[in-house]
Amino acid sequence: MSNGMTNTINPCPSVSSVSIRIVLLALALSACTTPGPTPLPSPILPTQTATIVTPTPSPTPTHPPTPTLPPPPTSTPAPPGSFVPTAARYVLDITLDYAQHRLAARETVVFTNTLNAPLSELRFYVPPNHAPGTLFLSALTATVASRMTHVYSLNADDLRVPLETPLPPGQTATVEMAFAVTPPRMRASSIFGGGGLGWSENALNAGNWYPVLRPYQAGQGWYAFKWHSIGDPYVTDWADYQATITAPENVTVVGNGDLTREGNVWTYRLRGRSFAFAASHRYQWASAPAGDAAVESYWFPEHESVGRLVLTETARALSLYAELFGPYPYRTLRVAETDFNGGQEFSGITFLGSGVYADYLKSPKGARTILYTLIPHETSHQWWFGLVGNDQCREPWLDEALAQYCEMFFYERFYPADAAFRWEWMGNTVRRPGRIDYSIYDYSQERPYKDAVYLTGALFIGRLRETLGDERFFAFLRDYAAAGRGRIATTDDFFAVLGRHAQPDEITPLRRAFFRSN
Ligand SMILES: [Zn+2]
Repeated sequence: MSNGMTNTINPCPSVSSVSIRIVLLALALSACTTPGPTPLPSPILPTQTATIVTPTPSPTPTHPPTPTLPPPPTSTPAPPGSFVPTAARYVLDITLDYAQHRLAARETVVFTNTLNAPLSELRFYVPPNHAPGTLFLSALTATVASRMTHVYSLNADDLRVPLETPLPPGQTATVEMAFAVTPPRMRASSIFGGGGLGWSENALNAGNWYPVLRPYQAGQGWYAFKWHSIGDPYVTDWADYQATITAPENVTVVGNGDLTREGNVWTYRLRGRSFAFAASHRYQWASAPAGDAAVESYWFPEHESVGRLVLTETARALSLYAELFGPYPYRTLRVAETDFNGGQEFSGITFLGSGVYADYLKSPKGARTILYTLIPHETSHQWWFGLVGNDQCREPWLDEALAQYCEMFFYERFYPADAAFRWEWMGNTVRRPGRIDYSIYDYSQERPYKDAVYLTGALFIGRLRETLGDERFFAFLRDYAAAGRGRIATTDDFFAVLGRHAQPDEITPLRRAFFRSN
């Protein structure tokens, strides 16, 4: 994630003239001629604990899974606290009530126990429910070996589903839910506090919007992290997704993964960290090749020139990073303009804020703009976050320091005359080493968080590159990307891979300078 404010941080006096103005768009409301609102499930208060028990055996799940189950991860002993990959697939059946800014969804999660012990409960993270009234869960059924239960407890963002019988290793549990989501109002000046969930007169964006299985930690169980207003409080395993969205005829749905469309029914299939989509009755779009993949850019009509710039520059960034780090794992990377200020990454899709488009249109100063920093930053998250996951709550430096530094690769390759400016703009000509391994919970304000994790984090990556030299540095990044593919890497994993490319006397001084735990 990044937002425009990140780049307004101006620790270097020599660039004090750089300022960002958030331009509020005065956009005309278009009349929505959509069908009437879809009936939504009756709400259960989001913090209510349901205690309805109906242990009626059922011979078959009511929603047989359709996607192919991913091969179970190799069951190797994992150190305590490390993340053990899980195998889950999600079927999301979504009705988009665009006129009323609401979603109604049925979600089926098929979970196979790839762990070495039986599981007595499944535990989900429900990010929209950190704000009461955003998500209404109306029904839940969990089935193990034909035994069904409707018992669950939903307390704020934590959903616990005790199983009627413990789930043995190798066996499968199916959880079916029905719920409705009422996203919060977003504006061009808004900074995502909901991880990409919101609506405006121009679009509706759904990121981090549904109950998702928590990751599992060896020796500790389900990872019970909590939502927080700073950073990206999301930690998810790769999973298989099939999401079908029924939208009004005049609405374009931009999701992640491979698309098949039949009229106003849009189906996306993805193996990634989450399913996200943006929808708008105003989108225009274009595509461009980027190596083995394609980039699609979606924009609001008044920002067409910027939308086309986003297309070409994202394609350049995607090709460059595939060359430097290894293949991009999808056929398509979509970038969807939405009403907020900043950028938000998901597997295979980036939400890019309309405030940034408007700002560029007003002052189109090429590479020395927020727009040009956000494009490579967010695109690099396809590797650092998407491909190689991390605990974004407790170790956010792992993706954000890398993403911040990746902007430099983009500038060096395509805008070398501006590379020194960008480094200085980040403050890294005057910045001194400092600790970067803080959690999002250590902060209650955005600026000190980004100063440490993003900007001082980028300085750490820069110092690492200087220490190793480019040949070993890029060999390390490729190795880290390959080793962490589809997993949740930790700081220990980062340094374990680094240890294959550097001597201890090269790494130790950097660890002492930049890490509390060294
Ligand atoms: Zn970021």
